[in-house]
Order: sequence, then C-alpha cells, then structure tokens
Amino acid sequence: MTDPIDRTGLRPRFWETTPLARMTRAEWEALCDGCGKCCLNKLEDEETGEVALTRVACRLFDDATCRCAKYETRHQFVPECITLDPATIEKNAYWLPETCAYKRLWQGDPLPDWHPLLTGTAQSVHDAGISMQHRTVPEFDIDEDDWENHIIEEPT
Ligand code: SF4
Ligand code: SF4
Repeated sequence: MTDPIDRTGLRPRFWETTPLARMTRAEWEALCDGCGKCCLNKLEDEETGEVALTRVACRLFDDATCRCAKYETRHQFVPECITLDPATIEKNAYWLPETCAYKRLWQGDPLPDWHPLLTGTAQSVHDAGISMQHRTVPEFDIDEDDWENHIIEEPT
C-alpha cells in the first residue's frame, strides 16, 4: 500500500540523533507509525486513573486505511482531538499506546523493528498485527453506555 505519511527526504535515522523538541515538522509527523490506536475511545476510571482501551473508534477514523479521514481539518469535527507535540506529550503519555513511537522515544526506548521508518513500508505495521486496521467499530454505532462491552487489550 502507499504510505499515507510522507517519509521521504528525511535525515537518516534522525530519531536516534535528534531530541523530539528539535525535530522538524516533517520528521515529527514521520514518527507516527499509523497504528490507529490513539483514535480509539478509552474509558478512564476516575478513582484509579486506570485507562481501558476500547475498539470503538473516533467518528473520523477510517478503519480501512487506519487513518484519520480529515487529519488536517479534524478539529472542526472533533474539537477534543489532541495535537500531540513535544510540549503535550508528557501529560498524554499515560494513555498513549505502549507501541506509540512518540511515547517510546519520549521514554528513551528505540523504535520497534516493524516501524515504517525502519522497514520502508507502512504495511509492516499491519503485518506485525499492531494496528487497528479492520478491527474497530464506529462510535456512532455504539451507545456510549455500551463502550465497556468493547474493551480490548492493546495489540502489541
Ligand atoms: S498511537 Fe502513536 S504511532 Fe500510533 S497512530 Fe497514534 S500517534 Fe501514530
Ligand atoms: S479526529 Fe482523527 S486523529 Fe483525532 S482521534 Fe479522531 S480519527 Fe484520530
């Protein structure tokens, strides 16, 4: 499949030499592996702070491409969608998927060997069983009170 993220013209292995805050916008965007797990609705226990992942996807999530259908203009439709950047990653890290490249680098971990920046193809994420492609249900089909019936373990 064609990589929906432009990963051309980047400095070789820039993520190993450049702190998150010093990356260019193109480098930052290229870190996203396209797993789609951050587009799933989560249930947070107010008392324990525990976060449960569900397979109920955001209304803009395209289950076939595993991408946001309107990434650039998404805030018009989903104002609560966060903008992840070096300044916001710390407060969001607790709910980001364990495999998320931003979280991993922020924690000091390397990129996993199936990451598109290492394999040269976005398909490697799906082949590794990491992504949510063809595994979600749309949020407009599931009443919010029933989300707890769709809790899943994060595919890792
Ligand atoms: S969890 Fe991280 S790597 Fe996966 S789609 Fe979201 S931002 Fe990209
Ligand atoms: S608006 Fe787009 S990027 Fe944000 S959670 Fe929904 S599908 Fe994902």
